[in-house]
Amino acid sequence: MEAKHDVLVVGAGCAGMRAAIEAFDAGADVAIVSKLHPTRSHSGAAEGGINAALGNSSEDSPETHAFDTVKGSDYLGDQDSIEIFTAEAPGDIYQLEHWGCVFSRTPNGKLAQRPFGAAGAPRTVFSADITGHVLIHVLYEQLMKRDITVYEEFFAHELVVDDGRCQGVICWDLLNGGVKALGGKTVVLATGGIGRLYRITTNAYACTGDGMAMALYAGVPLKDMEFMQFHPTTLYPSGILITEGCRGEGGFLLNKDGERFMKRYAPNALELASRDVVSRSEQTEIDQGRGINGSVMLDLRHLGADRINDRLPGSRELAMTYAGVDPIYDPIPVRPGAHYHMGGVETDSFGATELTGLYAAGEAACVSVHGANRLGGNSLMETITFGRRSGRAAAEWALSHTTVAVPESQVTDAERRIRRLLDRPTGDRPHIVRDELGSSMLENFGVFRREDKMVAQKEIIGRLRERYQNVYVEDKGGVFNTDLTQALELGSMLDVAACMLEGGIARRESRGAHSRPYDYPNRDDENFLKHSITYWVDGAPQLSYKPVRMTKYQPQERKY
Ligand SMILES: Cc1cc2nc3c(=O)[nH]c(=O)nc-3n(C[C@H](O)[C@H](O)[C@H](O)COP(=O)(O)OP(=O)(O)OC[C@H]3O[C@@H](n4cnc5c(N)ncnc54)[C@H](O)[C@@H]3O)c2cc1C
Repeated sequence: MEAKHDVLVVGAGCAGMRAAIEAFDAGADVAIVSKLHPTRSHSGAAEGGINAALGNSSEDSPETHAFDTVKGSDYLGDQDSIEIFTAEAPGDIYQLEHWGCVFSRTPNGKLAQRPFGAAGAPRTVFSADITGHVLIHVLYEQLMKRDITVYEEFFAHELVVDDGRCQGVICWDLLNGGVKALGGKTVVLATGGIGRLYRITTNAYACTGDGMAMALYAGVPLKDMEFMQFHPTTLYPSGILITEGCRGEGGFLLNKDGERFMKRYAPNALELASRDVVSRSEQTEIDQGRGINGSVMLDLRHLGADRINDRLPGSRELAMTYAGVDPIYDPIPVRPGAHYHMGGVETDSFGATELTGLYAAGEAACVSVHGANRLGGNSLMETITFGRRSGRAAAEWALSHTTVAVPESQVTDAERRIRRLLDRPTGDRPHIVRDELGSSMLENFGVFRREDKMVAQKEIIGRLRERYQNVYVEDKGGVFNTDLTQALELGSMLDVAACMLEGGIARRESRGAHSRPYDYPNRDDENFLKHSITYWVDGAPQLSYKPVRMTKYQPQERKY
């Protein structure tokens, strides 16, 4: 074993860093393992803001925030977790502010809050449109202040399970090469999402769902895997995100005729309906021939140069650099793109999983706050609130237990598997399989879903998984062998995709991001007001269900 700690946090985005800080403050010896330098984590790309009911721009309360979140989730979110989330969010925001987060302010000095989709009040706290960048740097400062160990550029690929509990992770050391085993009395998975399953996505190359796969292989179930959120405004053609803050600040969506088409789909909320609704509306416009080159237009011109430069400078720069359009003068071409995965490693509201010693937080986890559809601004908040809660719970368990064991045989088995991959002399290149996966997922498991296409996609994934058995890593070296780690990521992506399809085919209804307009156009609370739960059994997904935890919000029709 390379080293051992009380708490090992895998992932250094907002969730991982917040968990590590809390575990440290609880008195634990904590270390972070990350395949990227912490500030390169994908959280840094978050733009529009983070939700808490501070009531600075108009009346608001945690209860209203909870109701909006439950409704936005299409009633699939666990209501007890949502109530904890909205009640604790304001305190977490003030703490971030005291740590040095430079949030935008109102003229009278309060933290400014902008409207976001499906929110009953302007509750999204923001730093212009670089909120994630600000958060991640402040959290990193807090890590450095505490001198928390970071195993940087360590690629975790296997959990150590011994004596019925999780006791560490097996990693590939990217900088020096070689398998390294790290022991932890508890492990927190905070490895982020899996947007890279899709060819068009807002997600960085590192968002490959490794943590979900590691949990799955360790016998821990994934929850609600069929729910992938498509963000309505991703830049054409690259898929780079243009924040919902643009619509929050008053941007319009137009079709090729210059019509503000959202008035036909969501007459009250218009562009600020929930993301699933806006993405479906856009896709319908595009599919029915009212788009332009497979996109619609996001028009900010009426906001004026001053507001665009003050509130949305990053979006303007992205549009100019990647679409050649200055939004002060021209509308931005946008279309729906894969953005956020609502599903993940099943946890309770302390981040604990079914496996003793294993916790999860952030986009890798499913608490479940977002249910079938996440509200913009709720994810960053979830990384902080549930990152903190899981860090505390992991530390408390670790501090009341003494031993850590990493069986030598598991390390040698991992070494043998990697050696086999490196020694293979020919075969399919991983990037070819990955491209086929990304294109076919977009075609067959996108904004709208059809039974025949989902079944075809399941078969495609089956064939790609067979081809994966023979993938060939060209780079045989030890230093920064990203060819090897990308091959390992591909294995995770294929298996997690198989879980998503299993859940999607079986869910014979339309709910949130899972839309089946051709065969099951309605939500079916009688049969499907339940979470899908997927285990990995004999190399294949095995589906079961669990009830949604309800408190006081009874399912209603969603109208915007
Ligand atoms: C472009 C964009 C803009 C967004 N804007 C907003 C917004 O304005 N508001 C909002 O609420 N949400 C937003 N979201 C969503 C939100 O940013 C993410 O859900 C959230 O930041 C995820 O944080 P995380 O800590 O869970 O994961 P990440 O920040 O993705 O961090 C994952 C960490 O895990 C590590 N890791 C992964 N795999 C391994 C492995 N195998 N071994 C070791 N380490 C590993 C990575 O190195 C990284 O440190 C946005 C998302 C995108 C894509």
